[in-house]
Amino acid sequence: MQLPSLPAVAAATVLALSLAGCAAEEATKTESGAKIVDEGKLTVCTGLPYKPFQFEQGGDIVGFDVELIDLVAEELGLEQTIIDTPFEGIQSGQALNTGKCDLAAAGMTITEERAEVIDFSEPYFEATQALLVKVSSGVSSLEDLAGKSMAVQEGTTGELYAEENAPEDTTLRVFEDLALLQTAVKTGQVDAGINDNGVLYDYVKDNPELEVATEFDTGEEYGFAVKKDGNESLLETINDVLAKAQDDGTYDEIYKKWFSEAPKG
Ligand code: GLN
Repeated sequence: MQLPSLPAVAAATVLALSLAGCAAEEATKTESGAKIVDEGKLTVCTGLPYKPFQFEQGGDIVGFDVELIDLVAEELGLEQTIIDTPFEGIQSGQALNTGKCDLAAAGMTITEERAEVIDFSEPYFEATQALLVKVSSGVSSLEDLAGKSMAVQEGTTGELYAEENAPEDTTLRVFEDLALLQTAVKTGQVDAGINDNGVLYDYVKDNPELEVATEFDTGEEYGFAVKKDGNESLLETINDVLAKAQDDGTYDEIYKKWFSEAPKG
C-alpha cells in the first residue's frame, strides 16, 4: 500500500473538519426528515409580545400561534421551545437563516419580499392594518393625522403601509415591539398607532380608553416560516397539521379560545 502524498492528507483533514463543522450547525433530523437545531425540541422564533398570538401569561408563553405550533411539535414528537427575538430579524430571514430557530411563528404576514428570503407555510389567518387611537382623539382616518404623530412597529407591514400612505407631514415614530407601540398611544406620546387588527382589537378590550378608529383593507394573510430552501420536510408537516386542524375542528376551537368568536368564512 502506498502512503498518500502530503497534500492529499491535508485535503482530507480539511474535508473532515468542514464536515464536522456542518454537522454541528445542522444539528439533527427528526424521523420524518425535518431538520431541527436542538435535539428533542422544536425551536420557534417569535417577537414577544404579540397578544393574542403569542404573549406571556403566568410565566408561560401562550396564544393562538403557540397552540397551532404545539400541534406541529406533537406531530413530530418534539417539545416547542420559544425564543423571543425582535420581529425585524424574523421577517428579514436572519433568525431562520442563521439557525437560531427551526421555524418562525409571529403573526407574520406573507409578502413577496419576505418569500424571497424565507419559506412560508400555507396561510393560517387573515388580517388587515388598523389604527389605534384614544377614544377622545377625533382621529378617524390617516388623513386626520396630518401634522400629527403615529407609532409604527419596526419591520412590519404596518410600518410599510404608513410610509406609503400617511400624509407627508405625519411624523412616524418607530417602536421595536407591539407593547411599546400600544403604550405610546395610551400615554399620549403619539396621536395614533398602526398595527394588525387582531392585536389592536384585543388590546382595546382591556383598555376602554382606546379604540380602533378604522381598518385599512390590506388583505393580509399570516404564514409560519422556515429557512429559505432549507427545510421542506418541516414545511410539509406544518401544512399537513394545519390542513388536518382545519378539517377536524381543532383550528376553530383554538380560534374561538383566543378570539372569542368563530373564524369568518
Ligand atoms: N403581521 C405584521 C407583519 O407581518 C406584524 C407582525 C408582528 O409584528 N409580529 O409585518
